[in-house]
Amino acid sequence: MPQAWSFAFARLALLVLGALVVGWFTGFPAAVLFVALGGYVVLCLVRLYRLSWWLQHRSSEDPPDLRGPWGDVVALIMRIYRRKKFHKRRVLQLLREFRHISAAVPYGIVALDGDRQIQWFNRTASRLLSLRRKVDYGQRIDNLVREPEFVRYIAGRDYAQPVTVRSTVDRENYLSLQLVAYSDTRQLLVIRDVTREARVEAMRKDFVANASHELRSPLTVITGYVDALAEDTAIDPIWAAPLREMERQSVRMRAVVDGLIELSRLESQSGEAGDDEVDVPAMLSLMRKEHCSLERRPREITLTLDSRARLRGVESELHSVFGNLITNAVKYTPDTGRVDIRWWTDDDGAHCSVRDTGIGIPAEHLPRLTERFYRVDPSRHRSTGGSGLGLAIAKHALSRHNGTLSIQSEEGVGSVFTCHFPKRRVIG
Ligand code: ADP
Repeated sequence: MPQAWSFAFARLALLVLGALVVGWFTGFPAAVLFVALGGYVVLCLVRLYRLSWWLQHRSSEDPPDLRGPWGDVVALIMRIYRRKKFHKRRVLQLLREFRHISAAVPYGIVALDGDRQIQWFNRTASRLLSLRRKVDYGQRIDNLVREPEFVRYIAGRDYAQPVTVRSTVDRENYLSLQLVAYSDTRQLLVIRDVTREARVEAMRKDFVANASHELRSPLTVITGYVDALAEDTAIDPIWAAPLREMERQSVRMRAVVDGLIELSRLESQSGEAGDDEVDVPAMLSLMRKEHCSLERRPREITLTLDSRARLRGVESELHSVFGNLITNAVKYTPDTGRVDIRWWTDDDGAHCSVRDTGIGIPAEHLPRLTERFYRVDPSRHRSTGGSGLGLAIAKHALSRHNGTLSIQSEEGVGSVFTCHFPKRRVIG
């Protein structure tokens, strides 16, 4: 027990003893004891009152000078009070620093709760999204940012990549928005002004689209003349081989230009593909027939239709997807090999696989296969006359249909390219 308290108890005991002795001498022990204890209680009440008054005015008044256990209590309160003040100052300092840091960050940051309601945002977010302090606190972010791409993004589950939307403040500008989880339910919305990147990207797309369109006409003329010359019997036979090579190269160039034009067309269409009804089984049957009539082709090309389901989409784009996969399978499979096409549906949606027993692809090339102009082996590429754009086009068109492409391949054994379409794109 602290010393002050021992003294206090000893003092009280002495008081009681003294009162009893005085009471015994005077003949009124009860009355004397009552007076002594009453005085003691009054003294305690006075000290309690001074303590309580000081607690109420402690920010401006010095602590009362109390003795004994009351002094201990005051010292204890002072210690707690000083510690609290220190922590409060530290928290305030941290908060001020956090505010400065968050204002200096070149990105907009919005803290959202589990219901996607705004809890806090920094100055950049306020500028980029035109958010108003206090007024917009508690508002749902999708009520304030109503761009369809963002609404779709936020309703989805995949936040690994940001989404780019037009700024609502200035329609000429573009913003990149990404959700990042920072607890089980809470998320941060990170906003970046990507106007410059978007403009450069738009310029690149325009340039590629214009250049390919401009190249198409002269190329058609050149190809026509080369074809005519190659067939002209009056030409010196010494030119036969160079003319054949020119013919081959012009066909390749034509394929590259056509591929670039198709890719540009796909890129210029923003958002998801439309939802016309596309009869995929009929399309695949026709494609199989077309490839079967080719002069050079694998011995067997089969089609297995496990479903008659159709797809919601754009016919020309889906034609491009399946056409590129089947053409590749036929192109990269020797005459003795086979190509099997299959169309089926399951709980996840619809799928189309194109399996071949061709030359296959080494594993290290698989992740980059759908990049533009990516070649597994440039010499192999040259001999097949491909554009190097087929898979890039297929992937782009697929993603416009919310689909994905999976590739399995083993060098020297063959490959399987499978397109997966979500349920909502499937009819029947
Ligand atoms: P290309 O016009 O050259 O075929 P793609 O984009 O369609 O361009 O294909 C990219 C590369 O992927 C090809 O150059 C080829 O090396 C490889 N590839 C695509 N499909 C197959 C396949 N079925 N078997 C083997 N290699 C393939």
